[in-house]
Amino acid sequence: MGSIAGGRLAGKNAVVTGAAGGIGLETCVLFAREGASVVMADISGPALDKGIAKVRELVPSAPGQLATCICDVSKESDVAALVAQADGWGGVDIMFNNAGIMHADDADAVDTPDKIWDLTMNINVKGVWYGCKHAVLSMRKFGKKKGSIINTASVVALVGSATPQLAYTASKGAVLALTRELAVVHAREGFRFNALCPAPLNTPLLQDWLGDDHAKRLRREIHFPSGRFGEAIEQAQAVLFLASDESSFVNGTDFVVDGGMTKAYVTPEGPPTQPPA
Ligand code: NAD
Repeated sequence: MGSIAGGRLAGKNAVVTGAAGGIGLETCVLFAREGASVVMADISGPALDKGIAKVRELVPSAPGQLATCICDVSKESDVAALVAQADGWGGVDIMFNNAGIMHADDADAVDTPDKIWDLTMNINVKGVWYGCKHAVLSMRKFGKKKGSIINTASVVALVGSATPQLAYTASKGAVLALTRELAVVHAREGFRFNALCPAPLNTPLLQDWLGDDHAKRLRREIHFPSGRFGEAIEQAQAVLFLASDESSFVNGTDFVVDGGMTKAYVTPEGPPTQPPA
């Protein structure tokens, strides 16, 4: 868990989806530590309870408020109710649309089941749209002159992945396009939209997918110049920057946090002979 401390988000109200674990939970810790009030949202109630306990443990004297909300981001009424919680504090300043799924049955052009395509699009794309929509409505309602919306995409939106996961990849590409469009359309209102593009990292989402297959893990890690997966905290620190006023002129970006992965050329011979230091 992160160690940065200060008041970079003092007085701001933040909403984080997919907050029960991984990138979302690490981000909630940093947001709370930096002075924001945070509504932590997730589809899993028990996981959320553990998540908020973790934030309270790590940030015992958080200056802002902390709340949870069980929310399925693919349902607009859930997202509206989620944002209404932040409205109770004076409206949304920061919206982190981070919830997402990568389904085990996601496959290639032929074998991707229709229902997996729809499920993935509904959560990963529609969920992000609903989050953007209700954040903008809240910001307008409370007369905000600035706001920051961050949407989690992935490096698979930028480079093809040999892992067949058509629906996931297409959904993350849509997140980039949606973010860019809203960044341009809402810029004059002072609302910024940026997309986070993480490379594979050590979170439950990836661990579930890799299982105990160590060879599969090593095959993936060689794609990193650093020879390792990233950590969720390394994504959260980028989200904190995008959420804060320090990034006031950063709008519409594909913010890539990947240890150089998308810049690397991996030869067919495989990994370097020398292991990384
Ligand atoms: P994670 O599984 O720890 O977090 C995802 C969270 O989203 C979970 O807590 C889950 O309960 C929640 N969620 C799932 N469906 C939901 C729904 N319908 N409504 C609300 N919440 C829901 O994994 P993570 O890696 O922290 O994932 C966060 C984001 O990062 C996702 O959008 C994921 O696609 C993206 N991402 C992850 C990786 C990686 O390697 N882990 C790489 C690139 C992008």
